[in-house]
Amino acid sequence: MDMYNRIARSMMIPVVDAIRGTHVKAYLEDLEKTQWWSAEELRELQLRRLQEAITRAYDHVAYYRRIMDERGLSPSDISCAEDLTKLPILTKTLVRANFDDLIADNIPKRTLLLSGTGGSTGSPLKFYQTNDDRFSHSRARGLLAMQWAGVGVADCVASFPDLTGPPNMRERFLAPLSRRFRRAIHFDVTRISDETLPSIVQGLRQAHPKAIAAYPSVLSILASHIKDSGQPAPDIHALLTGGEQMFEHQRALLREVFNREPFSRYGMNENSLLGTECEHHSGFHMFAQDLAIEIVDDDAQPVAANVDGHILVTNLRARGMPFIRYDTGDIGAWATEPCACGRAMPLLSRVTGRTCDVLYTPTGNRVSGTSIEMTRFSKLGITGFQIVQETLDELTMRVVIPSDAIPEQERVRHGVVEILHKNVASDMRITVEYVDRIEPTAAGKYVPIISRVSPDSWLNRAREQSS
Ligand SMILES: [Zn+2]
Repeated sequence: MDMYNRIARSMMIPVVDAIRGTHVKAYLEDLEKTQWWSAEELRELQLRRLQEAITRAYDHVAYYRRIMDERGLSPSDISCAEDLTKLPILTKTLVRANFDDLIADNIPKRTLLLSGTGGSTGSPLKFYQTNDDRFSHSRARGLLAMQWAGVGVADCVASFPDLTGPPNMRERFLAPLSRRFRRAIHFDVTRISDETLPSIVQGLRQAHPKAIAAYPSVLSILASHIKDSGQPAPDIHALLTGGEQMFEHQRALLREVFNREPFSRYGMNENSLLGTECEHHSGFHMFAQDLAIEIVDDDAQPVAANVDGHILVTNLRARGMPFIRYDTGDIGAWATEPCACGRAMPLLSRVTGRTCDVLYTPTGNRVSGTSIEMTRFSKLGITGFQIVQETLDELTMRVVIPSDAIPEQERVRHGVVEILHKNVASDMRITVEYVDRIEPTAAGKYVPIISRVSPDSWLNRAREQSS
């Protein structure tokens, strides 16, 4: 750790904590210590915090008191993590329908911060957080993830953040100060274009940040631009990605251009950072100290390792609007082997497509976007893509290839058709459109698979065929 980082660590975090009324230092020290605990010790710690969270929810959140009373449950009935299955799953629809009843009654309403998800999953959500929920435990998880990537609290990080504005006056004042102290630089994610990319690269060369933090799709656009320009990439110690799934073709491109293995992180606005890769890049270590993560099948039963299921999160720290068994809308699987780094924090081997990323086939199949062999796209030289289904019989794939591969368009098209016929359905019409880049959504996210086919029309067709 260099001197600036040591000073920042020992002096500035406590100062920012004092100004903000947060506890980042304490939470970070807790994570730094417990990350090396054994699986058994972590389970005990998690259970103790889970019981406290359930008791708080029962005492102070009308929604949880009601559903537990209806089921004849008291907080003491949750005596192990598996007992969580006694409680119902919390969906976004339930959050909206019970919004006021989910706010804790022991926190003064005026101190709560209104937060929201960007709606990149097609379903925006608003919720309340305490100051501590927003800025303490979640930030500590972020700082530990940076440590794992070799990035100190005061190292310069270039980021391409969402343009969600600061939540209140104090933050409007504090956020730029905090950025200054962290030597952070920001690039506007919505202004990435052929015109702005050269100046962004120039800015990176001048500032030479220790790390870049961005959506994998945004980093990939940057990497493609650098590769096409023929110039060497700026020397960046760590690439931190998050906010969306990173596909193998993106990882391969980043590795090739920056000569670094990116650190993929898994998080969401509702619960901030949930897990991150360590230096072994063998999956996401989940922060069991702060969160209870479940993976369940369609019948809400826990799945075995290496089996995909719905990811549910219980935030053990959140106090403003506690979410218990919150359905993230993400699909993932537990790893079968522990990580070689020696940390026992539970390992998610993959987080795959959002539940909306499903394609429907004319013969009545549903195909998860994750069953498409995306690594084969990168082998064809594709650096970006988006698959759009407008009708049951047809898929359109928008494809980005480097400028030197333009003579190869016909070969790439053949390859794409072959992969999609094999992975989705052999009787679908496939159209390949070459584009300069895949446009992100308004929130700056990359959506690789979009189906505009309604599940109803697919079901009707399937029924006609079976009768
Ligand atoms: Zn590890």
